[in-house]
Amino acid sequence: MEEIIKRFMPTDHYDIVIIGGGPVGMALALALNDTGISCLLLEARELTDKTEDPRPLALSYGSHLILQRLSVWSNLQSYTPITTIHISNRGSLGLTILTPEQAGVPTLGFVVNYHDLYTAMHNKLTAHQNNYAGGAIVTRLDVNEKEGTVYFNYQGKEEKTTATLLVLADGGQLAKQIPDITYQSYDYQQWAVVANVKADIKQSGIAYERFTSNGPIALLPHHEDFALVWTVSPETAKEITTLDDETFVTRLYQHFGDRLGKFVAAGKRSAFPLMLKFATPNISQRIALIGNAAQTLHPVAGQGFNLGLRDAYELANEIISTQRACAEIGTSAMLSRYHQKRQIDSYAGRFFTDSLVKIFTNESRILKQACGFGLSILDCMPPLKRFISRRMIFGARG
Ligand SMILES: Cc1cc2nc3c(=O)[nH]c(=O)nc-3n(C[C@H](O)[C@H](O)[C@H](O)COP(=O)(O)OP(=O)(O)OC[C@H]3O[C@@H](n4cnc5c(N)ncnc54)[C@H](O)[C@@H]3O)c2cc1C
Repeated sequence: MEEIIKRFMPTDHYDIVIIGGGPVGMALALALNDTGISCLLLEARELTDKTEDPRPLALSYGSHLILQRLSVWSNLQSYTPITTIHISNRGSLGLTILTPEQAGVPTLGFVVNYHDLYTAMHNKLTAHQNNYAGGAIVTRLDVNEKEGTVYFNYQGKEEKTTATLLVLADGGQLAKQIPDITYQSYDYQQWAVVANVKADIKQSGIAYERFTSNGPIALLPHHEDFALVWTVSPETAKEITTLDDETFVTRLYQHFGDRLGKFVAAGKRSAFPLMLKFATPNISQRIALIGNAAQTLHPVAGQGFNLGLRDAYELANEIISTQRACAEIGTSAMLSRYHQKRQIDSYAGRFFTDSLVKIFTNESRILKQACGFGLSILDCMPPLKRFISRRMIFGARG
């Protein structure tokens, strides 16, 4: 890291400046590698902060293909295949099972640690180049018809640089400075508690998504055991993250049921507040938004990063084809094409996850039975399951 910081010296102008080096911002930078397009990535935090993020990520098979193309996949320390998704509703009998055969793919996806993915991308990005600056906090943006200017603090100094296109991959703070971008948001009043857990029954590639009246609970295959994403109220999140391990696994067993036998151990717990937030539009003069800066979703069905990765990949394709056509990068024509391409996928991801949470989180016995019945009907309709699975795996175009 030290060495990278020493090597990085901002120049006056770039084709692209990416603000935010989470996995989505890094994916864009990697996709622009070796294209002749000059690109700078500014990330506020140092590597060590990111290697402690405990969240598991369920990557779709489509994301696996993108990460392979970005030469990241082979650098991942470990990943666990998802061979089946088992969806059920607590308090009713219905269930649906999704398999790779029905979806027409070799596997449905993989579970990775956020920090393993982050490290693999970071290593790849910083291996040969000096266009990555860790510890660079962007404070202000200015745009005009020709370019954007970025002001940032770096190693105790105020720096600035300009770019033909600014890409916001910062999770959604800086776009608030842009007058024609507005955010709509909905606070789910839920938190996700994540932890590694061990059950009597070892994982066998099955990801369990179980809806309950408090919110969904997911147990994802992770190494020999499971990665838990348990949605609860803010008060319950505070309570269960401080329970001793034995009491915690007992509570989990009471909540999840007997499908995996008893839970016998739990690792460190962390909690994340959950909200739906999206920008309209996802572009402005000389600016494009990707990943959580464009839309932040509820983690149900593991869609957020998968969608953000497609944002990055589609934007990279648009930038590269604009350059190949000897046209100017970052014009309103180029940005409109990016906007058009991402509109349906982003809308579908938001609608799908938001509807799942709102329909399945209810106390009504009648609605619960109706949801269970709906899952059973879905299970008897292979073409519909294929349609839904392929959209979860590859996005709106399936
Ligand atoms: C509990 C949980 C489970 C999840 N599970 C899944 C899953 O299974 N599958 C899935 O697809 N998605 C999942 N998600 C969603 C996924 O984590 C996010 O969609 C993904 O991390 C978004 O990546 P990003 O790079 O857009 O944003 P972030 O990861 O938020 O990165 C933004 C980056 O910008 C940097 N930054 C911010 N401000 C500035 C600034 N001013 N200057 C410079 N840099 C700045 C930050 O330091 C950060 O590194 C889950 C989310 C949660 C909370």
